[in-house]
Amino acid sequence: MSKKIVFNSEWLKDPLFISWAKRHPFDVNKAKCTLCDGQAFELGNMGRHTLTSHMNGKKHQAAKSAKDKTQTYFHHKVVSAMSMPGCLYTVSFDESFSKAIQEEQMDLIVRFWDTDKNCMDSRYFESLFLGLTRASDLLRCFLKGLA
Ligand SMILES: [Zn+2]
Repeated sequence: MSKKIVFNSEWLKDPLFISWAKRHPFDVNKAKCTLCDGQAFELGNMGRHTLTSHMNGKKHQAAKSAKDKTQTYFHHKVVSAMSMPGCLYTVSFDESFSKAIQEEQMDLIVRFWDTDKNCMDSRYFESLFLGLTRASDLLRCFLKGLA
């Protein structure tokens, strides 16, 4: 009889899995995929390899491609609005500890005047992961996120 693998939180630190893999809420032998509408799948006896296999599957790749296109579209739309002559914008950040990945995370939010809607708009802009949280680390990540 083969041994069933238990979900390992260390896998969530891997850049390959960080954006989509989640621990199943009550079954330690399963993982969930946020890209595939929360689909749960058995880890079986291959553990981490099961995540890689799911990631390389057609359904997951199609969902990732659609998400990437949507994110790129909205990111370009925000950058375009911020690049309009005379556009004033502010950038704020929220730095917090992510329990899922056991690492500090910085989220950038931009606020700008949307000339299409003729109103102020606030949008998520970028997320970055910090090793350390000294002031110089925060500044480095903040500038990297806006680059
Ligand atoms: Zn998936």
